[in-house]
Amino acid sequence: MPSFRRHIITGDPIVFAPERAGRPNAFGDGEAESCPFCAGHEEMTPPEIERVGDPWRIRVFPNKYPAVEGHEVIVESPEHGATFDGIGHAAEAIETYIRRYEKHSHGSWVAMFSNEGRRAGASIDHIHTQAMPLPYVPPRAAREAAAFREAAQCPLCRTIARHRDEGLVLEETADAVRLTPNAPGHAYEQWIVPLAHSNEMSLTTPAQRHSIALLLQHAVARTRTVGPAYNVLFMNFPRENTAHFYVSVVPRRSAIAGFELATGTFIDIIDPVAAARVLR
Ligand SMILES: [Zn+2]
Ligand SMILES: [Zn+2]
Repeated sequence: MPSFRRHIITGDPIVFAPERAGRPNAFGDGEAESCPFCAGHEEMTPPEIERVGDPWRIRVFPNKYPAVEGHEVIVESPEHGATFDGIGHAAEAIETYIRRYEKHSHGSWVAMFSNEGRRAGASIDHIHTQAMPLPYVPPRAAREAAAFREAAQCPLCRTIARHRDEGLVLEETADAVRLTPNAPGHAYEQWIVPLAHSNEMSLTTPAQRHSIALLLQHAVARTRTVGPAYNVLFMNFPRENTAHFYVSVVPRRSAIAGFELATGTFIDIIDPVAAARVLR
């Protein structure tokens, strides 16, 4: 079973899961025949936790090579070549993420993300999202939560209007905006931000979930025009009322290099205003 170790200087937790070295890589020729996430291959995964539709449109099961206890996989389409922007049931996918999130939200934090493409860390080339319940609040979430707590006004609520003025809001509905942050960590990064302040996606309304689904589909479609690999990160802040839930879509056009590893900070090489023209 996976366990946790701590960085000897900072004490930051590190997930220790050597079993994951044995997981398969379902990339390459003839992959659909051997893909464990395709319809007809259900017996290749651990027993199902839940499904949406019959025949299924969305399927949830435990990760066969868990990095943590409770590590789950959510497959959003039975079709091998599907992309999130092309599925007709994106709102059901968001509802499924939220149900899985709620299932684990009694713990310290739930990492929820997807990796699309090898460069983004995917080991299976079939759309899926992962939920990893963690027994600690990871450093990024802790730092952001502290910044929200210390701010006089929520930095997301406060800067949406400024992003509009700067031409960085790409699209908006009555409930949410899709924007490119004015200081993104990665070129062509997009955020989907619900307009109403809430710290967890489980607190969103049905209308907000619909907007998030629609805007996430558009974000993914636009991201795929700048490169095939990307991550989607669902940034929740359980028990932190001052924090503001958002979804980040991060294209992985270049590798994380020495500067980023040494500093934990990023170099933005694309002016977000120019990025916004491409992503709108
Ligand atoms: Zn497949
Ligand atoms: Zn806010």
